[in-house]
Amino acid sequence: MSKMRFESYELNEYTEVESVKFPEKIYIAYADCGKSCGYRGFIVDGQTQVCDYCGKLMFRTEVKKCKLIHDENE
Ligand SMILES: [Zn+2]
Repeated sequence: MSKMRFESYELNEYTEVESVKFPEKIYIAYADCGKSCGYRGFIVDGQTQVCDYCGKLMFRTEVKKCKLIHDENE
């Protein structure tokens, strides 16, 4: 269970997005938090490394360039 408490806006306070163009390739990092937390997960490289569970910075163990597949059925 996360120790972090996040606030959100009301739905009508978010900006409206008509369409989004996703990149063809993106760097994904596998990040590891401290031993006392134990959280691990994938993050987009270059974005925040703050752990959702404890709020401390996670360590990027490995980074790979990934090619996105656009599936029109999803
Ligand atoms: Zn953590």
